[in-house]
Amino acid sequence: MKIEKNKILTSLNTFKIKEYCEEFIKIEDKKELLNVDFTDDFLILGGGSNLLITKRLKQVIFLQTKGIKIISETSDDMIIKVEAGEEWDHFVKYSVDKNLYGAENLSFIPGTVGAAPIQNIGAYGAEAKDIIQDVEFFNITTKQFEVFENKKCNFEYRSSIFKYELKNKIIITSVTFKLSKLKKLNLQYGGLTQYFGEKKNITSIDVRDAVIAIRETKLPNTDIIGNSGSFFKNAIVPEQKLCELKAKYPNIPFFKAAGGFKIPTAWLIEKAGLKGFKHGNAGVYNKHALILVNHGGATAQEILYLSDYVENKVFELFGVRINKEVNIV
Ligand code: NAP
Repeated sequence: MKIEKNKILTSLNTFKIKEYCEEFIKIEDKKELLNVDFTDDFLILGGGSNLLITKRLKQVIFLQTKGIKIISETSDDMIIKVEAGEEWDHFVKYSVDKNLYGAENLSFIPGTVGAAPIQNIGAYGAEAKDIIQDVEFFNITTKQFEVFENKKCNFEYRSSIFKYELKNKIIITSVTFKLSKLKKLNLQYGGLTQYFGEKKNITSIDVRDAVIAIRETKLPNTDIIGNSGSFFKNAIVPEQKLCELKAKYPNIPFFKAAGGFKIPTAWLIEKAGLKGFKHGNAGVYNKHALILVNHGGATAQEILYLSDYVENKVFELFGVRINKEVNIV
């Protein structure tokens, strides 16, 4: 365990917000968590990729535990345990290099493995919950390590028990995945169907390459433009609201989803004329309206102002409330 005082966090959050924390604790072995003196206001930091830091933080726990281990295998699947501090995409690459199926659609998502179950990360029709067998965590109150099987994690669209009920009560220390040795492709999303066209004999490596190529054209590189991926969640509306919107905007995209119909928030923001819109040093990304960017030196307040502005404009125009996906601390 390494402790630093008054650490600057600019390079540790992908939005590149210049903020400090009073106490910065780097954990490289999960057993070190037993010796942490947790304050009443701490933040667990992994990749810092789904985060907007709005104030000086008291205590940051920087989880850097590494390791990928095969636990067991059958002729059909392989069980792999991954430490929370591993980069998510490192694990995805490891799995496709072994010709396994299940993680490939989730390629190139920034962040750590420990963060993945919290918002049940998803992309191109796949979700982390589809391959998670169980999640191990450190319970801060009891100082015990516990394991929740998939069902107990209450996974939902971009949500889980860790995001709400257990927030600030636990630290995810490892995730165990079940990946298939049998070919199981998930190519339902338009982007992938178009990419492959008539191509046959597609493997998980091909899907990973496709996802990376598609994402690279739309998503800003955080080393060049600070951002935290999708800033907003997609909107879910009831059928009646969808009918109203369809009458006014016949080309509105929508998808059946749990709880109603999903409307891509990027479409709503773009239709509101806000793609590329700027407020001070903060902006709506000009290639993807779901992403807010730091054009250089933006403050968290500028980003928050911009996000509220976008939310209000979308509501005024469509009567649809959109919500932030990013963790604001
Ligand atoms: P896209 O392909 O332009 O589609 C726009 C939205 O429509 C997506 O958000 C997606 O919802 C939804 N969608 C598209 N095809 C669908 C289908 N066949 N069935 C159900 N819903 C469908 O999206 P994109 O922005 O380029 O992103 C592609 C994928 O990467 C999406 O799954 C997105 O969630 C993921 N992504 C995640 C982040 C992040 O930071 N978390 C950032 C960028 C992209 P869903 O979002 O529910 O899939």
